[in-house]
Amino acid sequence: MKVLVINSGSSSLKYQLLDVEAQEVIGKGLVERIGIEGSKLEQKRNDEKYVVEEHMPSHVEAVQHVFDALTDEKFGLVKDLEEIDAIGHRIVHGGDISQSSIIDEALKEKIKAYSKFAPLHNPPGLLGVEACEKLAPGKPNIAVFDTAFHATMPAENFLYALPYEFYEEHGIRRYGFHGTSHKYITRQAAQLLDKEVDEVNLITVHLGNGSSIAAVKNGKSINTSMGLTPLEGLIMGTRTGDLDPAIVLYLINDLGYTTEDVDRIMNKESGVLGLSDGFSSDFRDLESAANEGNEKAKVALAAFVNRVRKYIGAYLVELGDVDAICFAGGIGENSWVMRSQILENLEAFGISLDEAKNEGTRAVDKVLSSDDSKIKVLNVPTNEELMIALDTVELLQK
Ligand code: ADP
Repeated sequence: MKVLVINSGSSSLKYQLLDVEAQEVIGKGLVERIGIEGSKLEQKRNDEKYVVEEHMPSHVEAVQHVFDALTDEKFGLVKDLEEIDAIGHRIVHGGDISQSSIIDEALKEKIKAYSKFAPLHNPPGLLGVEACEKLAPGKPNIAVFDTAFHATMPAENFLYALPYEFYEEHGIRRYGFHGTSHKYITRQAAQLLDKEVDEVNLITVHLGNGSSIAAVKNGKSINTSMGLTPLEGLIMGTRTGDLDPAIVLYLINDLGYTTEDVDRIMNKESGVLGLSDGFSSDFRDLESAANEGNEKAKVALAAFVNRVRKYIGAYLVELGDVDAICFAGGIGENSWVMRSQILENLEAFGISLDEAKNEGTRAVDKVLSSDDSKIKVLNVPTNEELMIALDTVELLQK
């Protein structure tokens, strides 16, 4: 089966066409500057690149260009759109919806309702869906939610210690994100461990520009570091992660910042970028600078590492019995320096990284722990697009 996976943002749209049985990417593309001067589509198949530069005032024109590129006589990925069995859409916030779902009017209303918690993500996600509905009528559209994998969290982990009515009346609770990635990592880790998915207990560590960590018991998420929004938890490229909430009040009431300022500061100017005094949010830059003696870069990385360790400690205790700690995401998959610092001196907890296996390992499925490590350490490059395609096919076959 062939599945088109679409990740639609406010001014960009990423897509991949996958052959699901072969678990292979047939080709992929990116549309940028939708609704802005200079719109551009770039599609790749192996080393071949196809570029369209034409104004695309909205997501409808963007998706039309995607369909045209997919079926282009010379550079296309299929002869006819009929060859594509379904379209899987990445939707960030699905609230308490626990599974990927076929999109109908009722589901669209729910996605709209959860836009209040993901105002930058859900509305453009829906624009992508609606453009596909309009331009390929009858083709099944499936929503795969970033939140869904974490819908199995128990109440004691998803509730905030606020008056109960905030949860009941306003849905203020922890939802968690990166679920598609944590689900994929769980599935891959089970294979590497030669176990069934519902037999594995894992700590899945997704470290990228956005970072989150999850406690997985019997293949299901029971806790995760992101909350109502993707701002909570680990220190990220530009996001604060956990913070004393009183700081927000102080910034507004005493220092005179507006709510828009605070939103921007916490999401775009903080994290390792803020800690490094604006030097960089990119871990390659920070690691080189730290090596050259940049003290602020060193502290930024140390703070990042400590926050990850704090969550690993909490989830070790919560799970009790852990098969493996799994690293994924741009940093998790590639930075052996970060992996090494995160797992330093944890032998007493049954975790022993084999530095020889760790060093130099980038983006491959691999066991990184020493043979006698009670808890295994795994490198598990994530593949959210494949997970979306697999979920899409599973749902269609039901
Ligand atoms: P996103 O969350 O946007 O998908 P990624 O998962 O691609 O982000 O992660 C991006 C981060 O991964 C950047 O901070 C980048 O510096 C880091 N990264 C990528 N490769 C390496 C590497 N070899 N060593 C250290 N960090 C890396």
